This record gives sequence, structure tokens and C-alpha cells, in this order.
Amino acid sequence: MLDIRDLHVHYDGIHALKGVSLHVEEKRIVTLLGANGAGKSTTVRAISGIVPASSGEILFQGMPVNKKPAHLIQRQGLVHVPEGRKVFANLTVRENLMMGAYNNRDKAEVNQVMDMVLTKFPILKERTAQLGGTLSGGEQQKLTVGRAMMSKPRLLIMDEPSLGLAPMVVAEVFRIIEEIRSEGVTVFLIEQNANAALKIADYAYLLETGRIVLEGTGEKLLNNPKIKQAYLGES
Ligand code: ATP
Repeated sequence: MLDIRDLHVHYDGIHALKGVSLHVEEKRIVTLLGANGAGKSTTVRAISGIVPASSGEILFQGMPVNKKPAHLIQRQGLVHVPEGRKVFANLTVRENLMMGAYNNRDKAEVNQVMDMVLTKFPILKERTAQLGGTLSGGEQQKLTVGRAMMSKPRLLIMDEPSLGLAPMVVAEVFRIIEEIRSEGVTVFLIEQNANAALKIADYAYLLETGRIVLEGTGEKLLNNPKIKQAYLGES
């Protein structure tokens, strides 16, 4: 579904990605792990076309994406859930969700997807009239995921959904990510929280200073001594 081949990105003098290759298979959760500064955000920015690739390829369903405008890519089903819970603070929960379906003119379908999203997130259903900016951090994270679901994605790119959330809320958000996969949506999960991400990932890549240094199934990486020591806080 998503293929990155030998991707290099430079910022002025900094060689931020040094030949990243990875594959996100359809209907799977694939996670990209890495510490601060490893190049996770740069990878996402390159996929969205925000930073140019110096060389390499990014293919979504076999087509190059990094040279196309973002709204066209979104229409083909590649949807990005941004880092930092970027909800529209002055819009209600319902209006925020509607923003995710802005290019769908089929009202009946939009209503149907809205029902599906509100069923998945009962807390949002209770608060459809509440302003986005007044939701708690965990609720805002659910709202950004719900908004992405409104556009009926085929591939969801999630940028650090666990950032700044309490462990119980992280568990809930990750359970929702698993549910999304079971509905046939592919998830590319960018995370620093290796423990939570590896538990739900079908496949995982570890990025260090712009290079993939390790890859394998979630289970295999959870048991990898290097991951245990450096990323799971075990010795
Ligand atoms: P974090 O988890 O802290 O967000 P990250 O893995 O997402 O880290 P990136 O933000 O992709 O890491 O950064 C990769 C490297 O590129 C770092 O060395 C960073 O300093 C550098 N970098 C990122 N953005 C820029 C920029 N706009 N200009 C110059 N260097 C940058």
C-alpha cells in the first residue's frame, strides 16, 4: 500500500534521512519507531510533500505521492493524523468531525460515517456540541482520529498518537487503532512509545539517525535485546 524506497532528505547541511526503505502492507499496522531526532517526522513530512526528497521514491498504491498536492492524495485515501492533537478549538466536536468529510458531497454517506465514528467514540457522542478546544488531551486525540475516519481512509498515517497521554488513555487509543485495522484500514504508526506500538504492530521498523537499523514483526522486536535495553527501559 505504501512503499518508501531509498529515501534521502536534506535540510540545508543536515542529511536527515540517509536511504530509508520500508513497506506498509495493506490492512496491517506498521510502526516506525525512533528516539527524538531519529527522522520520524521528516519521513512523514516527505510523504506529505512538505519537505522535498533529495532522492528516492514514495509510492502509495503504486503511484508516486510526494509530488502531488496534499488534497489529491487525501482523495485517494491517504490521510494523516497530525501530531499534537490539532483540533479546531473554536468549532464543536460535530463541526470538527464534519471537517474530515469536507470533500464528500454524498450527505447520506457522511451521516452514515458520522454515526459509525460516534459509535466508536462514545465520549465524542456525548459531547457533539462541546468546543474542540475545551476537550481533554485524550478526548482531543480521539477527535483527531475520528476526524480522519470521517474521510473513509485507506491508509492512516498517525504521528505519535500517544504523546503526552496518560497510560490508560494510551491503551484506549491503541485499542481503537487495532479496531480501525480490523475494519480494513491500513495504519502507519509513527511512535516513540515502543512498548505500546510493538504490542499492536504487525511489523515494525526502528529508525536511528536517519537509517533503518532494525525491522521485524512487533513480537520479534519486543523481544529484541537492543530494543529492550534502549527503548523499553529494561536492562
Ligand atoms: P522527534 O521525535 O523529536 O520529533 P524525529 O524522529 O521526528 O524526532 P526529525 O524531526 O525528523 O526527528 O529530525 C531529524 C533530524 O533532522 C534532526 O537532526 C533534526 O534536528 C533535523 N531537522 C528537522 N527539521 C529540520 C529543519 N527544518 N531544519 C534543519 N534541520 C532539521
